[in-house]
Parts: sequence; structure tokens; C-alpha cells
Amino acid sequence: MPNLKDLFTHNRAWAAQMERERPGFFTGLVKQQTPKYMWIGCSDSRVPANQITGLEPGEVFVHRNVANIVVHSDLNALSAIQFAVDMLKVEHIMVVGHYGCGGVLAALNGTRVGLADNWIRHIQDVRHRHRQLLDSLSDAVRADALCELNVIEQVVNVCMSTVMVDAWAKGQKVSIHGWAFGVHDGLLQDLGMTIPGPEDIDHLYRDAVERVWDKRSKT
Ligand SMILES: [Zn+2]
Repeated sequence: MPNLKDLFTHNRAWAAQMERERPGFFTGLVKQQTPKYMWIGCSDSRVPANQITGLEPGEVFVHRNVANIVVHSDLNALSAIQFAVDMLKVEHIMVVGHYGCGGVLAALNGTRVGLADNWIRHIQDVRHRHRQLLDSLSDAVRADALCELNVIEQVVNVCMSTVMVDAWAKGQKVSIHGWAFGVHDGLLQDLGMTIPGPEDIDHLYRDAVERVWDKRSKT
């Protein structure tokens, strides 16, 4: 594990290498950021947005919190989304959960972790909403299913935010996506929850929830 001094050493080496390979890279970044993508992911250290997707500085606008939750009263998340949509004009917002998420597991098992219990309550709401489906699954797959259901619900929360309602009403082209990342294999899965506009939320939500059930009902 590198120590703090190593982080600065790595940083100097990285900056020098970037400048060597692509002269003017940083001065170009200073002028503007024009990312097409916004990533809403978990704070988990194993899920770094840029590395997973091969995107460079300037290419993805990132908001992360415990268990990739978007709450209607969370001014932090809403401000990030508003800046991304209104100012940066991103074209895609992806909500990205990950299998083995500590927040999802705590919500599923009712584990007390401290102050964060109140944040994790939002995932317990998701668990409660889908309890019939979750109760019918085996222990082995229930956590993965809740991880996906949490992503699907948070995609809807992004869609229902005033930011997205207003952007779509103005005709702005922004799609919201739901993905899940496998810490065990490094692969992203598309949960088929891609919302191009408000009229598609309901049926795509139903289909996506059904798929969570379909792919696990026989295990
Ligand atoms: Zn997590």
C-alpha cells in the first residue's frame, strides 16, 4: 500500500508522462470541460469511474456517494445533476451500482453501521417495495438482485428530478442509464434501464424489474 509521499511521487510521474505523450494536454483541460457523460456511482474504492470506462480527465462528470443513491431532497446530488445537464450539457447520465456493495448488504441484512443507517434506509425502502420478489429468491442471489433494483429505482429518481423534468420539457437530449459493475470480474452490465424521455419511464421500469426476477427465478 503506497504511503502519502508516494501519492505525490506518482502524481508528478503521471503528470510528466501525460505531458510527454500528449504535449498541451493540461493546458487544453484548463480552457474547458465538455464531458458527454455523468456518472452517479458508489463511493466504494473498487469502482473508479474513469478507469473502468477508459475515460480520461475531462470526459466524465462524477458524483459518488454510499450506494449510489439519488434522493429528491439531496441538494448535493441534485446540484451535481443540474450542473451536468444545464451547464455542461451532458448527453448521458449513468447510475452505476456494484455487486457486493456494503450499503446494499447492510440494507438487506439490517446491519447497523452508525449514522449511515439513515442513508441506507433509502435502500431498505427499495427492499420493502420489492419484498415479494426478493423473498422468493435464494440467499445466494438476493443481494445482487437488490443491487440491481436499487439502481433501477435511482434511475427513476433521476428521471423524476426537477432538473430532468425541465430539461426534457425543453427538448434537451439526455438519456438516463442503469448499470451494475462486477467487482469480481471488472465488467459492467447494462440493466436495460435506459430512459430517453419521460414517456418511457413506466414501461421500461416494469421491464427492467421483471428482468431482475427472470434471470434469477430459477436459481
Ligand atoms: Zn457500494
